[in-house]
Amino acid sequence: MGDFKLYYRIGMAAEKNILLDESIKDTYHGVAVGANVAAYGKTWVSQFLKTLSKPFFVDPQTHAFQTSRDFILKNDGMKKSYSTLALEYGIERIALGDKRELVPEDFDAQEDVMKFVKSTMEFQRKLIPPVTGSQKSIFEYAEILGYDEEISKVEEPEFLIAPYFYFRNTEDPWYNVNLHLMDCAKELFSESEVYVVICTEKDVLLEKKEIDIIVDHYSDINGIILWFSDFNELNQEKEILKSYIRFLRKLSSKDIIAMYGGHFSILSSKFGLNGISPGIGMSEYKNVTHRVTGGVFSNRYYIPQAKTMVVEADARSFYLDHPADLCKCNVCGEITKNASSDPNEFFTQLTPELAKKHYCLCKAAENRYIQERPLSEITENLKGDFNFCEENIDGIYNIKYRHLEVWLSVLEDIVASQVK
Ligand SMILES: [Zn+2]
Repeated sequence: MGDFKLYYRIGMAAEKNILLDESIKDTYHGVAVGANVAAYGKTWVSQFLKTLSKPFFVDPQTHAFQTSRDFILKNDGMKKSYSTLALEYGIERIALGDKRELVPEDFDAQEDVMKFVKSTMEFQRKLIPPVTGSQKSIFEYAEILGYDEEISKVEEPEFLIAPYFYFRNTEDPWYNVNLHLMDCAKELFSESEVYVVICTEKDVLLEKKEIDIIVDHYSDINGIILWFSDFNELNQEKEILKSYIRFLRKLSSKDIIAMYGGHFSILSSKFGLNGISPGIGMSEYKNVTHRVTGGVFSNRYYIPQAKTMVVEADARSFYLDHPADLCKCNVCGEITKNASSDPNEFFTQLTPELAKKHYCLCKAAENRYIQERPLSEITENLKGDFNFCEENIDGIYNIKYRHLEVWLSVLEDIVASQVK
């Protein structure tokens, strides 16, 4: 495998500075942009992507027009970002005129399907306005002079994503709509790299028959983005995680990316997962129908040993008793150097932006470690983290870590079966 791709989702404009920061820029592969953000902030998003000059993809978020309209409504109408998107996608008659959700029957006519696929994918492709003639000659000139690395050439997404909808199981009419959309996308964009999104319930993973049907239907596509609704790695039972790994292994000839994902997903790179696309230090999972709220997030800090985010007050009380265990990444190391390793002072100086940079550095370190080491060694290391949490956190601090025990038991089973 070797190369596991970390994409970060951009939402608020504030994340721009973190992602552009020279000390962070090399810690991740690329960015994921929600189509609603792209539609609403077209100018800044395309400017940002050009300046960043790293791979990106656009999540078309077509499912938003399928689920309950609450999802995209504001007090007096549809959120501006989604009404802009409805216009871009050519579904304004339904979404804004009739004020209703999309239904599978909307995709009965081949002509409507083709139009929808075209508009949703062209939107991704043309997010960055095409280079004009004069700009093109600047590129060529720069290339002759050997400056090609300094001028951004990123113009198109790394891959295009076919429009997708959530399906409950393979008998759900939406499942067939997705297959139809995939076929049209491959036909219309045969020159491009076309990926699809499998957006469903994690229970599907437990049904062998369902898995076989899906693996068979998606055999002819290069890339798949997986989104199991509410798949919080910290709360999953062992059986679900093992089924998830079995599923990944069946798809392993493809480029498989998790729509969100945390540490367990990085571990899953050993079984065929090729990337994740969470928010920076947030949204490692998401419910498909969850209402998008712009609420204030409390300051959170990633605890490297427990592989989880906690509110700052909980991190503070833990490190006050364990100052020697404060993180030593470049960001945290810099603060402790200035704040004479007093945890109180440390958290006073830790801005939300620094906390997110710490998250990026931790993820990059986890990724590097997991790609370089064999599974047996990674398992031993995870055991070390679990023991650390048992000894130092158990019952005293409000930091979750029991998930480590579940993950460990999943990995140990796999290591044992490989030895046999
Ligand atoms: Zn750190």
